[in-house]
Amino acid sequence: MTGQQIMKRAKKEGRNLLTEVEAKDLLKEAGIGVVDTRLATSREEAVSTSQELGFPVVLKIASSDVVHKSDAGGVKLDLKTAKQVGKAYDDILKGIKKEYPQAKIDGVSVQKMARPGVEVIIGMSKDAQFGPVIMFGLGGILVEILKDVSFRIVPLVRRDAAEMVREIKGYPLLEGYRGQEPVDVSNLEELLLKVSDFVEKNPDIGELDLNPVFAYKDGAVAVDARVVLEGGS
Ligand code: ADP
Ligand code: MG
Repeated sequence: MTGQQIMKRAKKEGRNLLTEVEAKDLLKEAGIGVVDTRLATSREEAVSTSQELGFPVVLKIASSDVVHKSDAGGVKLDLKTAKQVGKAYDDILKGIKKEYPQAKIDGVSVQKMARPGVEVIIGMSKDAQFGPVIMFGLGGILVEILKDVSFRIVPLVRRDAAEMVREIKGYPLLEGYRGQEPVDVSNLEELLLKVSDFVEKNPDIGELDLNPVFAYKDGAVAVDARVVLEGGS
């Protein structure tokens, strides 16, 4: 299915929130690097899909009623065998059913476990005055507690992207620290430009979150993605 078809189907079903798999398919089509991710609707399918993708894998709850997947044990990382995948599937469903008894569950998403990198966040929201605005920051507590983020209005030009990456306080972390490899900053700039281009071409998208993106010395890949279509979540 193309990105346009994915968005059309969601609208038709009265949904503004795309699933993780849908959001990643849309981004992939736009040339944005995402972890290969598929929906599994049964325990057996979760196991066979993980065997197709190759271990280690990650399982996540797939439900539009569960926004923060890691709460209530909805994310299981680094699963190395079919047995671990089967158990993770059962544990995820058990936890979610207990925590969110009303949730409509699609199944679980199965994806490759990405190698560790520096976690960054790229977001887009719409400002009443400025229209689409892109946000960049480092993942985890740096964004949540310190609000160490930068913003630019769409469309971004190359200089905007270069400034956004460098003006956060955590920039030295991207240059490498304590033996950690520096990340490919020009690749992150490219990614910001691609996201800007993507939202400009898709005015139906109201909100976008790549949270987190793993940044490496040789590229970057989004491991979680959220897309909200116009009309609210
Ligand atoms: P949430 O809905 O809670 O934001 P995420 O999909 O972001 O769920 O997963 C939570 C965390 O698990 C991420 O911040 C990341 O650190 C890790 N993670 C998620 N997916 C992967 C993956 N495919 N490979 C490696 N780590 C991952
Ligand atoms: Mg996330």
